[in-house]
Amino acid sequence: MNTAVNTTPANAPLVQGYEVVIGFETHAQLSTQSKIFSRAPTAFGAEPNTQACAVDLALPGTLPVMNVGAVERAIELGLALGSTIAPRSIFARKNYFYPDLPKGYQISQFEIPVVQGGAVEFYLGTEKKTVRLVRAHLEEDAGKSLHEDFIGQTGIDLNRAGTPLLEIVTEPDMRSSAEAVAYAKELHKIVTWIGICDGNMQEGSFRCDANVSVRKPGAELGTRREIKNLNSFKFMQQAIDFEIRWQIEELEDGRAIQQATVLFDPDTGETRAMRSKEDAADYRYFPDPDLPPLVIDPAWVERVRGAMTELPRVMAARFITTYGLSEYDAAALTQSREVASYFEAAAKACGQPKLVGNWIMGEISRRLNAAESDISTCPVTPAQLAQLVARIHDGTVSNNAARQVMDVLWDDPQAQVDEVIEAKGLKQMNDTGALEKIVETVIASNPKNVAEFRAGNAKALNALVGQIMKASAGKANPQQAGELLRSKLAV
Ligand code: ADP
Ligand code: MG
Repeated sequence: MNTAVNTTPANAPLVQGYEVVIGFETHAQLSTQSKIFSRAPTAFGAEPNTQACAVDLALPGTLPVMNVGAVERAIELGLALGSTIAPRSIFARKNYFYPDLPKGYQISQFEIPVVQGGAVEFYLGTEKKTVRLVRAHLEEDAGKSLHEDFIGQTGIDLNRAGTPLLEIVTEPDMRSSAEAVAYAKELHKIVTWIGICDGNMQEGSFRCDANVSVRKPGAELGTRREIKNLNSFKFMQQAIDFEIRWQIEELEDGRAIQQATVLFDPDTGETRAMRSKEDAADYRYFPDPDLPPLVIDPAWVERVRGAMTELPRVMAARFITTYGLSEYDAAALTQSREVASYFEAAAKACGQPKLVGNWIMGEISRRLNAAESDISTCPVTPAQLAQLVARIHDGTVSNNAARQVMDVLWDDPQAQVDEVIEAKGLKQMNDTGALEKIVETVIASNPKNVAEFRAGNAKALNALVGQIMKASAGKANPQQAGELLRSKLAV
């Protein structure tokens, strides 16, 4: 592990005087049709034990055969995160006994994983964060114990045995539960964006283990406890926050933290020790003699690279150069492929990328959030947004009026922007003669504000513009009104 991080960053947020340190291990289930070392299907939800073949059941005489699709997905993740793809990596046996593990060992990678280094970059609010990766390694999943359908017995379902996983391990770079959740969301975005994982957290396709410790700033890293299998962002935040409070309380009460594996109980909102943590030595890792080293030559890496879709950060960079967006806006508009393509379609259609971006990040996402939905079910099409933005840009409607148009579009997908503007009388007053009359009336009837403005109070101008907007029933262009006022009141 890189020790540079052991120093406390100058801006680390403290909780009751303690610095929080978090590192993540994430299991992403790879979206292959068949298992990592056998041809059994990986589909979710089948009848127990209908998708486990002789290899998955560890019957004598069977041998694992590497699934090329799983390797390519690991390469894709490495390329997406700027990691090194190991030219030669090794599969190892991780030995432990558990009823859902028929071989008595899990095939994983230990000393030489396929993906090494790299980083995940994201925004926490407006602050840019970088979480470094240690590694990502290929491994097989175990089966499942079924407790609910049996009384006094445990059932075993081996459908999941041999499902391909990529375990993605970070340096302990995170300093708060909010940062940890933002990291997990970004990683989730990347694996689903490049299509190596379906990201379904309820079905367990993307599950995170959060390693949490606390220390006084500048001290050695504290002892960590590992919260296992967090499968929703909400529970992730709750679990880490509980764990931080618990650890600080223990230390404040003079007790030392014992390294342990814990589970989060959503019903109580608490974490609970499951077992004391095993060390690597407990697993007696050794290279699996059934599998040759995994050799990946540069030509293979390039083939995979050539077939990959545009990555979020590449797309964000393109949005900055092509559309003149800020880095922050570009990141927000590439939060998912759907948002990005919605933005691009609307921006191209009206030629006003900044305005389009503002509307997507503002009005549209506010409405989608309120409806607990996302852009894929947005009732307003990119073409409609483009049209509305064009009408704002050419001065036909004010921003305020445009919001009223959006109200109508939201409820009626058939509505036409220009017709709504017409029908609701939302056209901005572009006739300077008419506007001038209103400005003059307002000046004449608000001597107090006029005097204040002349005395140097810039805010008084806003009050006058407000009066003009009122007198024009909202149809005046506030910018134009301000300019007219200024020129008429110029001393
Ligand atoms: P193991 O393989 O035993 O789980 P690792 O060294 O691989 O241990 O670390 C697992 C995870 O725990 C990594 O994400 C790492 O960043 C994180 N981690 C290690 N030490 C700490 C610590 N003191 N506090 C918080 N996280 C830690
Ligand atoms: Mg580990």
